[in-house]
Amino acid sequence: MQESLDAIGEALDENGKVVVTGCLGVKHDLIKSTHPKVLAITGPHDTPAVMNAVHQHLPKPHDPYTDLIGVKLTPPHYAYLKISEGCNHRCTFCIIPSMRGDLVSRPIAEVMQEAENLVKAGVKELLVISQDTSAYGVDVKYRIGFVRGRPTKTRMAELCRSLGELGAWVRLHYVYPYPHVDEVIPLMAEGRILPYLDVPFQHASPRILRLMKRPASAEKVLERLRGWRAVCPEITIRSTFIVGFPGETEAEFSQLLAFLEEAQLDRVGCFAYSPVEGAAANALPDAVPQAIKEERRACFMALQERISAAKLKAKIGRTLKVLVDEPGVGRSSADAPEIDGVVKFRGGKAGELRDVLIERADAHDLFGRLQ
Ligand code: SF4
Repeated sequence: MQESLDAIGEALDENGKVVVTGCLGVKHDLIKSTHPKVLAITGPHDTPAVMNAVHQHLPKPHDPYTDLIGVKLTPPHYAYLKISEGCNHRCTFCIIPSMRGDLVSRPIAEVMQEAENLVKAGVKELLVISQDTSAYGVDVKYRIGFVRGRPTKTRMAELCRSLGELGAWVRLHYVYPYPHVDEVIPLMAEGRILPYLDVPFQHASPRILRLMKRPASAEKVLERLRGWRAVCPEITIRSTFIVGFPGETEAEFSQLLAFLEEAQLDRVGCFAYSPVEGAAANALPDAVPQAIKEERRACFMALQERISAAKLKAKIGRTLKVLVDEPGVGRSSADAPEIDGVVKFRGGKAGELRDVLIERADAHDLFGRLQ
């Protein structure tokens, strides 16, 4: 909370015009009393209110593209495509469902229209986001919508197939390892969408997963990973984990390390558990002391760094397609912006798709030459 308030203060110092939106927006009084100069405050998932506030304080642009697609906060060559809001899960460490409610999927026709507009406006990479991408359409019973005159189900596989026809990179985030996810792996193998899956596993101990109220089991996950790699050997798997969850024993932590060793994931984020105000997990007994949490996190990351370094080293000598983010820096299919590593080289222009011959690697990034 304090970090967000500080960030608002910094933004006010920078340019004096700040609209606060998202989860923090529900703390209206606190924001107003700390930063009275804020222009407007809106709650989460309230694009119209944000746009109204922006238009009130800035003249509305009369550009057909901007009018059509609204304000984009990412560089022009990639864009986030939000397909739903809210979540039907109740993970005990998370308060998103209590703030944003249950899953509400956007109609497939609307999502596809936005995606088409973005690609027409020059976007080269669409990052599909939500709280649970694999649940897309569950709330509307996979209702049929019309995409370019074709009846199409509001469902992840159908969405991926349609997005794959737009000619841009399509990257999937926040996917649960449900059986129907298997349907999108062939689309990756055929090159229609990027061979990349962001699957937050969070833990591998069945008891901790139960305490977290996560639906997956570690053996099934390993089996599924093997299946995905058999269909699409190029696939990059990214995941996030929490260590030091209340009650996590040494044995359960070791179980997590064994899983990590076996799963050989490409990209991994790891958080030391920290209680969020209002989360059910706060009531669980046997909190892990901070020092042990940090120790486990460091141990986890050291193992993953070794796995990641070996995986990246195996790419030396290969030529990879790279989307240039800025001169000298780009990303391959294995690198999502801001959270994964990058590919470094000399030259290139933002938004170009180029071939890069990989010559060197460290634990996170690749280094090479433009072809
Ligand atoms: S962690 Fe993700 S899946 Fe779990 S409740 Fe929160 S938003 Fe939903």
